[in-house]
Amino acid sequence: MNRKKLIVVGGGTAGWMAALMLQKAVGDSWTIELIESSKRGIIGVGEGSTPALKSFFEDLEIPEDEWMQACSATYKSGITFDRWSEKSGFTSYFHPFYSHFDRDHAKALIHNSHLRRSGKDVHAHPDVFSYNHYLAKNRLSPVVPHHFPFEVQYGYHFDAGLLAQYLKKVALIRGVHHRDALITEVDLSTSGDIAAVIDEKGERHEGEWFIDCSGFAALLIGDTLKTPFTSYADTLWNDSAVTLAMPPDAEPPCETVSTALKNGWAWRIPLQSRVGYGYVYSSRYCTREEAEEELRAHAGADASVDARHLSMNIGRREEHWVKNCVAVGLSQGFIEPLEATSLALTQQTITRFIHAFREGNTGEEFREIFNTSVNKSYDDVRDYISVHFLTNSRTDSQYWVDSREKPGPASKALSAVFSCWFDNGDLPGLLKHLKIDGAYSNFSWHYILCGMGVFPAAETLTSPSPKDLSGIDFEQIRDFFARCTLNHQSHIEALKFSGLKRLL
Ligand SMILES: Cc1cc2nc3c(=O)[nH]c(=O)nc-3n(C[C@H](O)[C@H](O)[C@H](O)COP(=O)(O)OP(=O)(O)OC[C@H]3O[C@@H](n4cnc5c(N)ncnc54)[C@H](O)[C@@H]3O)c2cc1C
Repeated sequence: MNRKKLIVVGGGTAGWMAALMLQKAVGDSWTIELIESSKRGIIGVGEGSTPALKSFFEDLEIPEDEWMQACSATYKSGITFDRWSEKSGFTSYFHPFYSHFDRDHAKALIHNSHLRRSGKDVHAHPDVFSYNHYLAKNRLSPVVPHHFPFEVQYGYHFDAGLLAQYLKKVALIRGVHHRDALITEVDLSTSGDIAAVIDEKGERHEGEWFIDCSGFAALLIGDTLKTPFTSYADTLWNDSAVTLAMPPDAEPPCETVSTALKNGWAWRIPLQSRVGYGYVYSSRYCTREEAEEELRAHAGADASVDARHLSMNIGRREEHWVKNCVAVGLSQGFIEPLEATSLALTQQTITRFIHAFREGNTGEEFREIFNTSVNKSYDDVRDYISVHFLTNSRTDSQYWVDSREKPGPASKALSAVFSCWFDNGDLPGLLKHLKIDGAYSNFSWHYILCGMGVFPAAETLTSPSPKDLSGIDFEQIRDFFARCTLNHQSHIEALKFSGLKRLL
């Protein structure tokens, strides 16, 4: 008997993630087929993740040591933001992934942030309160032993090309069907559903459902179904990137470093096999040659190192699920990679679709719920990312001055967050009320606003009264962290995997 078919178009990271998750969820009753074209290739960038990727591998029961070794991966405790602010004492801060300890210490940070927002001269830089910051600065792996009673979240850095290849191998072992074919035509039924995709040789590939993972090409959701694109270009100006690969660190750190440059920012991502650099910038403010030159100087790369230039389409589809087509990955949208959120949004989209699909919730009403929730996730991430630019205090270029002084319209939610912050209101309460603490938690909002030094000017601050102080003992926090870290290996030790090849 012919089984019903779910066709994934595109074999980048998004396509293989979708295929694997679908195979696990419904592969016993549906055929999952992935069609990609080796003539098109994959984008092959995107080397940082959030902790969501850990749950992706865990859910698929793929051992961490195996995939990390195959993909030249390292651990990631968070991101250092360097030189985004020129305010004394705030020229660098760390945005950590959550750890159990931060829950307790964040209360102290929030307390001090209230005092500082009201003009009292107290310490409100976030780094000292964060466990993952302590781990990263001491080059300790964030992995904790099984008996450790506290959660320490972490993400990864990985080689994007190797990750797609690895996922493909696992997917084929697990029963996903694969075709290498260039799709040149799409056949719609009278109802407007996709009936088949047709390749350059004229072969029809029919299916009941189609997952568009064709990257920026957006072959099905855009080209075929003409779903409008909501651009974020009015608030997020960066539309271009240039990348370089440099030799690996002898001891890779477990953090991404994001350094503000003249017309954007540069990532530094340590892999086992190399260090990846990328400059994300606005083509309105500099040429690709200027960007490349600046990145080369920043990374210490001479002319022998090849540079790769990319354009980025920043925004999202108005709908991600239309008829029998669901867009996943770059085809559905992209927010510039400052907080490495793309794969997490991809994973979230597939999870939401699978949930609805398995329940048989595929009617109009459910599509609407799905599209509204995916749009909200994108918009919430957009808002958080834009705070980095809005709160910058750099004076070295028009790009940074304009980012702060001539921003596009802020969303209602973001305007409310800023009002609350400047009025010294209850930010955690507001975030909950607005339901925007899902994408970024209360902690993340405090880390960014405190870390960028969004406080009254230093010269206006007055001494706090003894009753204001919470009795925070920074020595005690440091001592506590130091004792906890006895449970962690050095990052480099943790990367010496057993070398077991269980799946491949
Ligand atoms: C500069 C930059 C930095 C980034 N950094 C990060 C990061 O740090 N973290 C993160 O999570 N994400 C990041 N991303 C996003 C990340 O790269 C993507 O989310 C991820 O690679 C998934 O891409 P994709 O699979 O959607 O598309 P692609 O990798 O582009 O794959 C598209 C697939 O579609 C196929 N295809 C296209 N047209 C056809 C056709 N006609 N017929 C058949 N097949 C076709 C291609 O063959 C390919 O297999 C970054 C992106 C950019 C641009």
